[in-house]
Amino acid sequence: MAYSYACKDYPEMETCPGQFVAETEGELWKLIELHASIAHGEDPGEWSDDDRQYLKTLIKSG
Ligand SMILES: [Zn+2]
Repeated sequence: MAYSYACKDYPEMETCPGQFVAETEGELWKLIELHASIAHGEDPGEWSDDDRQYLKTLIKSG
């Protein structure tokens, strides 16, 4: 089982090459947060539950 996320799946992030794979969903979230912070200047601490809910729909598992 692995969890993956491709930043380009997020609206208006089509040109971002960031893709992450982790064994657990918890680790993947850390990678997504780190990437958003470094690459996009985001503050994951500011993400609302709706933001996280939406991101979760973009996470693939299998
Ligand atoms: Zn990105």
